[in-house]
Amino acid sequence: MSKDVLLRVKDLKMHYPIRGGVLFRQVATNFAVDGISFEINRGETLGIVGESGCGKSTVAKAILRLYEPTSGEVEFDGRDIINMPKGDLREIRKEMQIIFQDPMESLNSRHTVGTILEEPYVIHGIGSRADRRKWVVDLLDKVGLQSDAVDRFPHEFSGGQRQRIGIARAIALNPKLLICDEPVSALDVSIQSQILNLLVDLQRELDLTLLFIAHDLAVVKHVSDRIAVMYLGKIVEMNEAEKLYSHPVHPYTRALLSSIPVPDPEKKKVHDVLTGEVPSPINPPAGCHFHARCPYAEEKCSKDRPELKPVKDNPNWLVSCHLMDNFIN
Ligand code: SF4
Repeated sequence: MSKDVLLRVKDLKMHYPIRGGVLFRQVATNFAVDGISFEINRGETLGIVGESGCGKSTVAKAILRLYEPTSGEVEFDGRDIINMPKGDLREIRKEMQIIFQDPMESLNSRHTVGTILEEPYVIHGIGSRADRRKWVVDLLDKVGLQSDAVDRFPHEFSGGQRQRIGIARAIALNPKLLICDEPVSALDVSIQSQILNLLVDLQRELDLTLLFIAHDLAVVKHVSDRIAVMYLGKIVEMNEAEKLYSHPVHPYTRALLSSIPVPDPEKKKVHDVLTGEVPSPINPPAGCHFHARCPYAEEKCSKDRPELKPVKDNPNWLVSCHLMDNFIN
């Protein structure tokens, strides 16, 4: 793949002060995202996977500046997003759109689908009313819905159809980047694959770049070129999708893979079983954040934080584990 970077994220941090006491002073810090770096090439899909609470959705919102990051750099198509004046963000968000897990939260239940899908054009003053109505019907067709949906309300649709409406709105302004934040987590398994196939088709048709966030490695594998595994605010492993599945290195990645159901359990590679809960990102554990759940933890794991380093000098294969050499074969 030629290196044509669309999104560059460098050392992104999102720390929230926790306040308490009579004077409402800061008593702790939530290290929700704690120094994340990655790039996404034009036309590529980067999957971010991790258990709930690992900070992956916060990364999405910080990139779009729906949350103001504590520090770090976000460069989109050569433009500095972090230091961009708020007034300019509205224009850039035409090119960076997001799909949420629950489309009901983002679709105004009092508006018809036609009005909802027309809204991006109205906000940005694009087209006449007749143009907009035509574009709305085109959008519905692109996402596999009938044109009579324009006069109906979101609650009249199934969960999968509502997600199609959410996707239609997200692609209305021809974005370059689509951030998909757990877009199929709330759907039945049979509907999940339909929505994933739709996203893959739209990516090809519209030349989209995707950042695809999910807690389920099986879902991420279906759509991603590369995958970053997050644990407690940090990336612990990143690799090309196929290689991450065939040669997982970090004990957390290995445990996540073991938890994927397979049709033939006899063929399943059992690495490690994930036990316990993700620790709180408020005052996270010292050393390697995974040490309390890691079956291989040694003394230094609870003291020294491992760096995210290339494996075998491959800049596309990064792992943060003191003992990674033991897991590379
Ligand atoms: Fe486990 Fe230690 Fe590696 Fe962390 S650094 S994943 S605790 S072996």
